[in-house]
Amino acid sequence: MSTCTICHTTAPADAYLCDGCAHGLRARLRQIVTDLPLLRAALRPDTGPAQRGGSGRAHSPLPVDVRALDLLGPGHPVPIEDPHGDQTGGIPIGPLLKGWARYLAADVPAVWIDGHGTMRIDRCTDAQPRTGTGTGTAAWSAFLQAYVPYAVTRPWAEEFYHQVADLVARIERVTHTRPRRTPKDAPCPGCSAFALVEHEDQLHIRCEACGHRLTPDAYAAHRAEVMPALAAVALRIVAAQQRAA
Ligand SMILES: [Zn+2]
Ligand SMILES: [Zn+2]
Repeated sequence: MSTCTICHTTAPADAYLCDGCAHGLRARLRQIVTDLPLLRAALRPDTGPAQRGGSGRAHSPLPVDVRALDLLGPGHPVPIEDPHGDQTGGIPIGPLLKGWARYLAADVPAVWIDGHGTMRIDRCTDAQPRTGTGTGTAAWSAFLQAYVPYAVTRPWAEEFYHQVADLVARIERVTHTRPRRTPKDAPCPGCSAFALVEHEDQLHIRCEACGHRLTPDAYAAHRAEVMPALAAVALRIVAAQQRAA
């Protein structure tokens, strides 16, 4: 057992990130790809509806969102050895993902053991994503997602997590997207508040009142246990109100 460098809960032995933060890292790598169309849309100037008989627009076109341009630009490869150097403010998506993929590939030994104890054999001298366009963002994201179980066992896992999280935060400031948040209907087993919320990018369902966490399976079992009794109570209250009316 060790402690997660991100959230300070218990992490698997030899891991620098807990399962929940590893899940969040993978979700963010996925989100980078799903948000790309929105980022590209932010690059296009608004041409506005055509005006009948008009010779031009009523307003000048909106300027291109330079933040989107920064994120989608070619840029310089990420200086991973100098993560706090002066270039980290605006590393675009492509160079950041490719930089980490290269760094990871150089770091992967021929044989390694993943978080579930499975021995993996890789002969990695450079990152060679097999899916997508080869050099596209989706391919680099898929490559990095596949190596998250290895990455969490390395001392640089925390830096990797933070750089990906910062990148996603910069993307969200342009696209205004947020991972979906679903309030759950069963009360919290820790504090009985109706404050359990499921987040698309998080492994655990979390109570916003007391911080209690449970896995989706544990929530399903808890819900199956408490909801029939709650429904019966609700029916009795409704019946009592009807009698009183
Ligand atoms: Zn964690
Ligand atoms: Zn609670």
